[in-house]
Parts: sequence; C-alpha cells; structure tokens
Amino acid sequence: MGFPSLEELSGWIGLSDAEAVRALHARAYAEKTAVIGRRVSMRGLIEAGNVCAKDCRYCGIRASNRNLTRYQLTQEEIVASARFAAESGYGSVVIQSGEIESEAHTRFIEEVLRAIAPLKLGVTLSLGEQTEEVYRRWRDAGATRYLLRIETSNPALYAALHPAICSFDRRVECLRALRRCGYQVGTGVMAGLPGQTLEDLARDIAFFRDIDADMIGMGPYIPHPDTPLAAEASGWSAEAALRLGLNMIAATRLALRDVNIAAATALQALDPLGREKGLLAGANVVMPNVTDAKYRAQYKLYANKPCLDENAALCRGCLQRRIESIGETVLWGVPGDSAHFFARTRPGM
Ligand code: SAM
Ligand code: SF4
Repeated sequence: MGFPSLEELSGWIGLSDAEAVRALHARAYAEKTAVIGRRVSMRGLIEAGNVCAKDCRYCGIRASNRNLTRYQLTQEEIVASARFAAESGYGSVVIQSGEIESEAHTRFIEEVLRAIAPLKLGVTLSLGEQTEEVYRRWRDAGATRYLLRIETSNPALYAALHPAICSFDRRVECLRALRRCGYQVGTGVMAGLPGQTLEDLARDIAFFRDIDADMIGMGPYIPHPDTPLAAEASGWSAEAALRLGLNMIAATRLALRDVNIAAATALQALDPLGREKGLLAGANVVMPNVTDAKYRAQYKLYANKPCLDENAALCRGCLQRRIESIGETVLWGVPGDSAHFFARTRPGM
C-alpha cells in the first residue's frame, strides 16, 4: 500500500462508529504485528525537572503557572532512576523536562549522560528546542534519540497555541538539526486541540512522513485548569479526544509502518485502559514513569495524571500484567531501537 491520501487519513481519524473504529484498530494492529511482532518496548520515563522558560498555552508546567513547586532532580537522583530502569529490564530511558537553554543546563545534561553511560541503556532526551551545537554535545555524551513534538503541523494553529516568541519554523529546524546530529528523531502532536480539524491531523501524519520521523509520541490534548487554553472550548469532548488519539495511532501505523509509536500516558488519563488500547491500535512502546513518586504531582502537564502516588516497582508489575493480558510480550533488557531508523541508515540490511 502506498501512502494514503489526506482524504483517506482524515476519514480514518474521524471514525466514530464503534464497529468501524474496531476494524481500523484491528487493521493497524495486524500491520504492527507483521512489521514489529507482538512485542512492546519499555522506556523508563524520568521527569527530570519542571522548570521551564516557555509559556505554551496548554501546558501545566508553563513558566507563568505559579500553582506548583518547581524542582530539578540532582544528577544522583537521575542516575538512581536510570539504574532502577536498567535493573527493571526496561532497556532504555527518556529524560524529559521543561525547556532551559543555558550553558549550565547543557553541561549538567552532559554530565548526567556520561554518568549513566555504564548502564548501557538506550537514552532518549526530550528537553525541547536547543541549538544544533547543544544537540551535538548531548549526542557526543551518549544520547541516541530525541523526542520533540511539533505539537501541530498547522503553523496558524501552532501560533494560536504558543506565545508570539515561539516559532514554528524554529521547531521544524530543530527537528532537521537533530537528524543532522545522527539522532533517532521522534516527533508527534496532541489530538483534540481547540480549533484543530481532522484535516490538520491528517496533515500531521504527512508531516511525520516528510520529516522522515523514526519515532512518534502523540496523545490526546487534556486541559489543565491553570492554563489559558483550558478556558477555550475545544470543540472535542474528552471521549472524542481519546478516540482521536487512538485513531491517530492506527492511521500513523498504517501510513508509516515501521516507526516506533508510543502509547502515551495521556491516553491512560482519559481511560484506565488507554495505554492497552493504544497498543491494540498499533503502538509498540510504553513509557512507565520511574521518577521518584514524591516529584510526580509537580510534573502535571494536564489534569488527572495517572500513577501519581504509585512507586515505580509497583508500576512495573502492574504494567507487565496489563501488557501480557492483551497477548503482547515485553521486550526486556533491549534498547528497542526504531526499525525505521535502521532501514534509513543501513538500507539493505
Ligand atoms: N519541554 C519539552 C517540549 O516541550 O518539547 C519536553 C517536555 S513537554 C512537557 C512534553 C510534551 O507534553 C509536549 O510536547 C506536549 O505535547 C505535552 N503536553 C503538554 N501539555 C499537555 C496537555 N495539556 N495535554 C496533553 N499533552 C500535553
Ligand atoms: Fe515548557 Fe514543554 Fe510545557 Fe512548553 S510543553 S511549557 S516547553 S514543558
């Protein structure tokens, strides 16, 4: 099958009839099974800090929100979380935080990367927009993957979601810079944003193809009460946002085939079985939180964040049971690299 037309994609994404949705997800799951197998990769998610210089209008840790205590994990705390992930057999970690552009922060992340290198984990960074030089330094210090969601590929919608100082073009340029630095590059969007249309979402998938993404991390938009965007009616109910999020996973799997796709935690915030449903719609990556539970309430991007007070060891057991209950096998102890990355960097292998 060639790349679907935008009409086809928006038709899939907009499906709401239960039987039609089930058939779409079953097709995408069959595609995922054929290309990747009935296997799920795990990434231990480390929420390294909630200090952020930016003011994205949808995000609970935006700079202007005063209703939270800011924190930054120490190097030792990050290493301890990474060690827990390694000992749990997750095989890889994602280090995520608010966006800080400073030499001190760049150096701190370099030191963290060098300190966790002996653990031999796949390391994804999700630390926002930086200069190409910074991306290169972090790549040299051991990071192999980078996740930077475009949030929406519609520049007008992007402008409505962010303060004027944020540039859509810079975000795209950052994705290109990450490619030049040799990362496995991940991007993604939120589904169900105020003003977002099915056509926007179809174009998002075409954007993933055009940027030649290796990994996709996307999920439903969930309002956070302390943000300006929460006051705007989205036009989508929470139920619709969940359905859009799942249909986006399915449509992306059918269109892009061999990319890694994460079943985002935001799916679970809207439905206790949201992540399992994400896997059954074609996702192949789950990111259990390995951050010390005492910090988790301070990293609330949206309302109803799940697993707030669960410790990471409990999370592991609960997730394994949940994944096995749908007939999938966890790939323990392997980095879970993107098949698409290998296909584009080592063609013919
Ligand atoms: N600061 C970095 C950045 O923006 O790329 C990484 C951390 S940021 C918190 C990670 C992602 O959280 C964003 O890319 C955004 O898509 C998502 N996010 C923020 N607020 C959200 C909300 N209200 N609902 C769903 N996802 C949200
Ligand atoms: Fe900061 Fe990222 Fe949230 Fe934007 S989405 S406010 S950059 S943490």
